[in-house]
Amino acid sequence: MSLDAPYPELNEYLVWIGEAGWRISEIEASEGSAGNISVCIGWPVEIRRKFPLAESLDLPLDVPELAGMTLVITGSGRRLRDVIQEPTANLGCLVIDKGGKTGQLYTSPKRLFANLTSELNSHLAVHRDQIVNSGTNFHAVVHAQPRHLTFLSHIPRYQDQKYLNQHLLRWEPETIINLPEGVGFVPFNVPGSKAQMSATLTTLHQHRVVIWAKHGIVARSDTSVKRASDRIEYAETAAHYEYMDMVNHGAATGLTIDEIRSISEFLGLHQQIF
Ligand SMILES: [Zn+2]
Repeated sequence: MSLDAPYPELNEYLVWIGEAGWRISEIEASEGSAGNISVCIGWPVEIRRKFPLAESLDLPLDVPELAGMTLVITGSGRRLRDVIQEPTANLGCLVIDKGGKTGQLYTSPKRLFANLTSELNSHLAVHRDQIVNSGTNFHAVVHAQPRHLTFLSHIPRYQDQKYLNQHLLRWEPETIINLPEGVGFVPFNVPGSKAQMSATLTTLHQHRVVIWAKHGIVARSDTSVKRASDRIEYAETAAHYEYMDMVNHGAATGLTIDEIRSISEFLGLHQQIF
C-alpha cells in the first residue's frame, strides 16, 4: 500500500523513530549500540532546517529506483534508546541522487557519528526491493537483537522455518493475527555482507519479519516505523514464551492447532503454518 496526502512531516518521523528505538530498547533488543532503523520517504520533505550540513556519499549499492527519495537513518555506533532525546544527533537524512550511485547526506551540527549504520546496504536493498515490487511511497526497516529469538536461532531444530513458526505462533492469539505469514529464517551470514543482504531480500518477499540466525531480527512495514517495531515485539514475546516452556520442560500445551485454525477462520486469515 501507499500513504496518502496529507503526508507526515519530518518532525513526526523523528519522533516515531525515537519512540520505536526506545521501545526496542525497553524490550532489551538493543544492547549497547546494537540495532538500526531507517525509513524511506517518497515525497518531498524539508530536511535542511534540522540537518543543514551536506556531503556527497557513494552508496554501497546502486539504487536508481530510489532517486529523489529520502532515507532517515541511524548513525553507526549510536544507541537506539538515545534517538528520542536528540534525534538530530543520532540520525542522518540521505537523499538519493539521480542514477542511484550516490546520495547527499544531510546531518546536524549536533551529529555524533562518523558514518551511517554498517547495515546501510541491507536497508537500501530492502527499501528498493519493496518499493519496486509494491509501488509503495513509504517503507520502514528496523533491525534489533531480541535475546529470546536470537537464542532460539542457535538451536538446530528452530533453524527449520516450519518448526520455528509452529512453535512461535502458538502462545497468544495475537501472534498469528500480526504475523500470518510467520517469520522468515535466514541462516547465519557475516553482518553487513552481500550474502546477508541478498538472503534478507529474498526472505522478505514472503515475510514481514526475518530472523538472522545467531544475530537478530529485521522487520519492515509500508505504513509505519512503529508497526515494524511492533512486529519485532510480537515475535520476541512469542520466543520468550517458547523459551519459558523450554526451561519448564514443555509443561505448557500452547494453543492447539485446532484453536489456531479456529482463530484464523474466524478472522479470515490466510495462513499456511498450521
Ligand atoms: Zn545487528
